[in-house]
Amino acid sequence: MCGIIGYIGKRKAVPVLLNGLHRLEYRGYDSAGIAVIEPVGNKIVIEKQVGKIKDLQEKLWDKRIDGHVGIGHSRWATHGEPSIENAHPHISQNGKFAIVHNGIIENYLELKKELEEKGYKFVSKTDTEVIAHLFEELYSGNIVETAVEVAKRLKGAYAVGVISSEEPDKLVAIKQGSPLIVGLGKDENFIASDIPAVLEYTKDFIVLDDGEIAVLTKDEVHVLDINGKPKEKKVLHVDWDVSVAEKAGYKHFMQKEIFEQPRALSDTIAGFNSNLNEELLNTLSNADRIYIIACGTSYHAGLVGKFWIEKFAKVPVEVDYASEFRYRDKVLTDKTVVFGISQSGETADTRFALLDAKKEGAKTVALVNVVGSSLSRESDHTLFTYSGPEIGVAATKTFTSQLAVLYLLALNLGKFRNIIDNRLFENLYESLLKVPSAIEEILKSDEKIKDIAYKYINAKDFLFLGRNINYPIALEGALKLKEISYIHAEGYPAGEMKHGPIALIDENLPVAVLAPIDKFYEKILSNIQEVKARKGKVISITTEGNKEIEKFSEDTIYIPKVEDVLYPFLTVIPLQLLSYHIATFLGKDVDQPRNLAKTVTVE
Ligand code: GLU
Repeated sequence: MCGIIGYIGKRKAVPVLLNGLHRLEYRGYDSAGIAVIEPVGNKIVIEKQVGKIKDLQEKLWDKRIDGHVGIGHSRWATHGEPSIENAHPHISQNGKFAIVHNGIIENYLELKKELEEKGYKFVSKTDTEVIAHLFEELYSGNIVETAVEVAKRLKGAYAVGVISSEEPDKLVAIKQGSPLIVGLGKDENFIASDIPAVLEYTKDFIVLDDGEIAVLTKDEVHVLDINGKPKEKKVLHVDWDVSVAEKAGYKHFMQKEIFEQPRALSDTIAGFNSNLNEELLNTLSNADRIYIIACGTSYHAGLVGKFWIEKFAKVPVEVDYASEFRYRDKVLTDKTVVFGISQSGETADTRFALLDAKKEGAKTVALVNVVGSSLSRESDHTLFTYSGPEIGVAATKTFTSQLAVLYLLALNLGKFRNIIDNRLFENLYESLLKVPSAIEEILKSDEKIKDIAYKYINAKDFLFLGRNINYPIALEGALKLKEISYIHAEGYPAGEMKHGPIALIDENLPVAVLAPIDKFYEKILSNIQEVKARKGKVISITTEGNKEIEKFSEDTIYIPKVEDVLYPFLTVIPLQLLSYHIATFLGKDVDQPRNLAKTVTVE
């Protein structure tokens, strides 16, 4: 995820681009750049810098760039580490087309090969660069027609802005999957990833839909469909305050990130194959054991991952807290794989545990959300989640994306080792593709979950119960609530409750129970009865249509039916919303809870 901006009009482009990039910086900021068409000679000038927008601004301080047409980009790397070469804008080989891109081009390797065979030389490791060369290759003398042809060749998610020295009075944008808006001004027009980026120049917008192309000149904007046919679009007039707008209308980043999960998951699923290779599958397949090591929410993702890897690939997995693993006398061999999970890729406990294990001869794999992060550089192999930057301290969308990677890895490893056949693989893969829309469904119950949350704001303690693959989700539910509401909470395997925590149950204790209709449903229903018999307040999370459970529950939250193994993706969503609403009712700072930091770089 990144921010893109484009300007064409009466002002000098550079200040407008920089201003917009500052506003888009929350979307990611490992590097940034601009491209402007200079009026004399219509030459495209490009300036890029690694780091934040202010670093780019400093670089531009003493440069004179007069052009009135330009594009800018604040990057959140997905393909290729943060570096000057990989920063956008990317330029075609003949220097006549400059591109900014937000998203992932899924077929870039195929396109790259084809373009290389035609003699194009690539200077970056990004997926984006193919778009610039494609514009040059397919240019017909009309940039709009060319955009239609380019769009037909691209697969994946993308919002693209393009300028060309061949047609310096136009700015063209293509939107498919990633967000893009057009800002309408007087003697000027804009494109941007979101409205706040240009809110200080205009309050009138066109929100582009997938498969649309926008053609901007200083005075006019035309929107075309993917075949180049003109389309009528409504103009949206907004009256927004900029700070609210950065959160896209949500009250908190955490809330926005909870609601972004379907998109983050789809991107992560789409990006998975580009990081998978035979060598990694070989290493994992030959492992005498895989140790998954992580902290906090990532540790819970690891616990779910163990179920999948052992079930589908039959490789033994142990999961450990990184801080414990590091100092434990464990048995590592050159066939042991240590698999570190960390959103930021900078978590000190995980990094150092992995580095130590590597020194002792183990193979290392990292699963991170940040390209170019320490963990990804220090490991033998890296897998990525494509959640985009997560700003709320409590992890939400990166958790479900981590689950997606672990699930896909388990399936691929299972197929590689002939534990599951192609048909089962396809079925299980297809089932995962339905998860984003199942999450959309659950998110529609937000108001209902908010009402439920309100009933429990005075609770002093909370218990979360789950069985089997949903047990780690009970742990995650408890962690979320503790982190942001400061209410004491515990997650427990439901069957273990009778061996201790049952003593805590009375009429004041809310007990959230993960009870989807799966192989363990009857057992968990008995656990619910045990809670009920002691007057505990049961909040059930169960599969749609299960009316029976309402008899034993104070509150019931429904989730769609999916394959049993996929329930963790769904059971976690109501728990995220429950904690979010309890914490907001209590007036807590959910995005920056006390005593916590997003990236923990100390031991
Ligand atoms: N996939 C592109 C890259 O890695 C764009 C990433 C983004 O959306 O910032 O450069």
